[in-house]
Amino acid sequence: MSHTCNYCVVTCIDFRFHPLLQSFFYELGECDRVALAGASKAIVDEDTRDVVLKQINISQKLHNVTSVILVDHEDCGAYGGKKAVTSDKSEINLHAQTLHQARDIIQKHLPGLTIELKFVKLNGEIIDL
Ligand SMILES: [Zn+2]
Repeated sequence: MSHTCNYCVVTCIDFRFHPLLQSFFYELGECDRVALAGASKAIVDEDTRDVVLKQINISQKLHNVTSVILVDHEDCGAYGGKKAVTSDKSEINLHAQTLHQARDIIQKHLPGLTIELKFVKLNGEIIDL
């Protein structure tokens, strides 16, 4: 059995989204996973950035990962949840902004990776950002 995979997926720790992401992971196939509260926020946050970057780098070295998928989600406690935003649209915009910042940080520190940005809603819908 090959000891390589294409994807390293970075998600939040929130248990509510594990069942919602099962079919996503099934379709993706073999992949490495990193989970930190806030997902993209953990990359933008200087207190946790190095932890995430190190995990992605290990994934590259050990499993020849070429793509990273950052997965944020609706009502994320690390962002203050739904009460921190005024609308669904503003919540998605906030996550889009942070996800793009996180992508730029990864590209700066670990160049050459393909990076996909996603947002999962509470109803299970996955949006590409
Ligand atoms: Zn979360």
